[in-house]
Amino acid sequence: MGPPCRPGDGQDPRAPRAERRGRIFILSGPSGAGKTTLRHRLLAAFADLRYSVSYTTRAPRPGEENGRDYLFIPAAEFEAGIGRGRWAEWAQVHGNYYGTSAEFLREGIAAGSDLLLDIDVQGARQICARFPGSVTIFIMPPSPAVLRERLESRGTDPPEVIARRLENAAAEMAQAGFYRHLLVNGDLQTAARELIALVGSYRAAP
Ligand code: 5GP
Repeated sequence: MGPPCRPGDGQDPRAPRAERRGRIFILSGPSGAGKTTLRHRLLAAFADLRYSVSYTTRAPRPGEENGRDYLFIPAAEFEAGIGRGRWAEWAQVHGNYYGTSAEFLREGIAAGSDLLLDIDVQGARQICARFPGSVTIFIMPPSPAVLRERLESRGTDPPEVIARRLENAAAEMAQAGFYRHLLVNGDLQTAARELIALVGSYRAAP
């Protein structure tokens, strides 16, 4: 049996479920791949898909809202949560902490809800170890040049942050093979359609 969440792992996420249990969908990809926009499209398409709002210690970007985009908390609070099992998974990304609420996952799964997580590769590995039936989807930019262009045109990050994000993007993309599904986001409309169809195919399974 192969590693969890990948083809050949002995799991068939589309197999009928013995009972109505929540399914976890994991979306990953480098910043600038268009993941946030695609996530919004997905949530708009499936009103009952519940988004796991991550906790982070990074500063809010202009336009970001506490509780909707992230839950912004101080590093001391985040670190205290590590020891108390507050995080279903957590990681340091770009020098900040990010984590998924263990309570949100527990409640969502118990309620039979399908859940959507937007987390990095380190987090995806942790969730897959605990929930091997998770559906993992990696969003790829069409090329490194397009990725740079998107990060720069966003205009929200200083140059040194963009440089760090580009370095991390290369490392993150090298791990795309961990995911069950790869989706290239060249054209947003096409990628959104593909993503909705993919998630829909799982949700339509008995
Ligand atoms: P950003 O700062 O651009 O919003 O996010 C940076 C990266 O952190 C993205 O790749 C995003 O998927 C990841 N991320 C966001 N929330 C979480 C989380 O709860 N856990 C983990 N492991 N990564 C996260």
